[in-house]
Amino acid sequence: MSGIHTENPLLARTGIPAWDQIKPEHVTPAVDAVLAESRDALAKVEQAASETTNVWQEVCAPLELVQQRLHRTWGPVRHLNGVMNTAELRAVFEQNIPKIVAFGLQSAQSLPVFNALKRLRGQPAEWDKLSPTQRRIIEKQILSAELSGVGLSGHAKDRFNEIERELSQSGTKFSNNVLDSSKAFELVLTKTEEIAGLPDHALELGHQNWRNAQAAKPNAEPVDAKASNWQMGPWRFTLDEPSYGPFMEFAQRRDLREKFYRARIARASTGELNNAPLMTKILELRREKAKLLGFKTYAELSVATKMAPSVDAVYGTLRELLAKSKKAGKTEMDSLRAFAKAHGEREEIIDWDLPYWAERMREETLGLREEELLPYFPMPIVLSGLFALVKRIFGVTVTAADGEAPVWHPDVRFFRIRDERGNPIAAFYFDAFSRPATKRGGAWMDRCLDRRVETLTNGKHEVQLPIAHLTCNGTPPIGNKPSLMSFSEVRTLFHEFGHGLQHMLTTVDHSEASGIRNVEWDAVELPSQFMENWLYDRATLASVTAHVETSEPLPDILIDKIIAARTYRAGYAMLRQLHFALTDLELHHKFNPETSAGSETPFDVDMRIARDVSILPPRPENRFLCSFMHIFSGGYAAGYYSYKWAEVLSADAFAAFEEAGLDRANEVASIGRRFRDTVLALGGSRPPLEVFAMFRGRPPSPDALIRHAGFSN
Ligand code: ZN
Repeated sequence: MSGIHTENPLLARTGIPAWDQIKPEHVTPAVDAVLAESRDALAKVEQAASETTNVWQEVCAPLELVQQRLHRTWGPVRHLNGVMNTAELRAVFEQNIPKIVAFGLQSAQSLPVFNALKRLRGQPAEWDKLSPTQRRIIEKQILSAELSGVGLSGHAKDRFNEIERELSQSGTKFSNNVLDSSKAFELVLTKTEEIAGLPDHALELGHQNWRNAQAAKPNAEPVDAKASNWQMGPWRFTLDEPSYGPFMEFAQRRDLREKFYRARIARASTGELNNAPLMTKILELRREKAKLLGFKTYAELSVATKMAPSVDAVYGTLRELLAKSKKAGKTEMDSLRAFAKAHGEREEIIDWDLPYWAERMREETLGLREEELLPYFPMPIVLSGLFALVKRIFGVTVTAADGEAPVWHPDVRFFRIRDERGNPIAAFYFDAFSRPATKRGGAWMDRCLDRRVETLTNGKHEVQLPIAHLTCNGTPPIGNKPSLMSFSEVRTLFHEFGHGLQHMLTTVDHSEASGIRNVEWDAVELPSQFMENWLYDRATLASVTAHVETSEPLPDILIDKIIAARTYRAGYAMLRQLHFALTDLELHHKFNPETSAGSETPFDVDMRIARDVSILPPRPENRFLCSFMHIFSGGYAAGYYSYKWAEVLSADAFAAFEEAGLDRANEVASIGRRFRDTVLALGGSRPPLEVFAMFRGRPPSPDALIRHAGFSN
């Protein structure tokens, strides 16, 4: 064994991953070796589990080690597959996933382990000896095993496994249908009057889109560059967001916008790609699964793993936000109508006019142009401003440590975080720039290593410090100028850094609950959205800016515009999210596909909620549900509300600083310390409501979110 370990970097047991040495050929041997070892370890644990009196030591601790070793092997593979993707790596990645998933299920459904954990929980003398963190880890493991069907037997168990299989297949089919039906639609424009209003970047994309489609045709002839270019067309527009969004915002031709809109809301709703029957089937299966596990509805099952105490509590929060945002939404709509009328629009504003006129009004009233802001946000300035902010509020120091750890690409930077006494407490990689050919889009924070403290046989403690991956897809530097960040890129960086802080400033010693691990789905966006709030504090915003040529900070007039843009059409944005969240909840809670058959369809449910929530009259032909992948093929079933739930928390947490005065350094530092010691330090070791109350001194309130959105009563 030791031979393999020293040669294969994916089997290293200590230290920082050797990114510069990992090769695709290491993956399969490493995964096979670590899985063989893990299965052996699980078998030993299962043997010991039925008799041992020391469940923590003989069941929990060895299983934690198994998970950590697996993560040391598979974590880097998953990471590289996302940021340095090659055909070879993708192939071995896909080859090995099923093995990893199978082992995950095997250990989650282990009956001997489950019984040992329940036995421990049932023995007060033993249970009370455990720390609150240990008890919460065990509670969560028991719950997760229960929700994986460990407690079922005989016919019920067979049926449960069948449902799981069918749900997984139906989810895949649902999203494939959406992708296929989106792909089947195109709008190819050739005349200049058809593209009136579209900005250059949309036309460039449209033309490139057309060329790619031409090239993909069988027997494709090379496109003659002289006979066509982005100014001359043709231009091809499709239903995916980067193509659809700008078209609806800028195209002056109302008839084309209508055509495009109608195609979008009809995706996957007819013929062979019709998702409607699949949707009913998924809802039925979920309902049956919930019943097998002892819940009344699927929403109750979903909420059982979340921070929200009950489905009713979720309804309560959503309805409160609805009551507060409805008036704002209506007022916005009235002024948009007046604006359109004043600018010569004779038709009533309806769905396909909304993005177009909203964008015109934004241009005129805010006058905010992205190009104006860019020179003020050179990446090195933004980073030093961000690091100064976390020093100011949390007392930790971030320093560059490039060269102290191997990296996977020369652009990747390495940083260390130290506490007040200068002790290193964490580190992170920052992979900032987009690399379209090899790197997945978007931005994310991921765990590289978890914080954990292991007690060795000689009684000494071995500490593994947490390391985070911060991955963005920003604009790379051009020539010898630094990367100039757009405001939304800066916001994304603050967001991901917030996740990173929760991962890195944890003080929990057990890896299953340190950092973001074990944090409930509807609470995990608290630190990330919290950090975004700082960008709307004038002084903080100015401190992350310096003009790339003059070094001047962002002028007041641009700061005003950024702050005004935050609440522009906030009512509409809120109502839209509430519409999705309420429909999702209703379908998984009150709606019953069996008894409702014939009386109310899922589309009727959507319409009913739209009549209450939407600003525009709902359209009966709207089949948006047929492409609502978040809830039918993603992880958001009866959980779409999480976006708003976490935003209530983050806004309320930030309000603690606002109440003290953002410019009062000592108060900010002491509240910051409290935030660090609770939300950031405790991570998943305590229930999130308890952690929040420890920070705020009371349960969360939506008032701050309502105020930040600019809604009056
Ligand atoms: Zn996030």
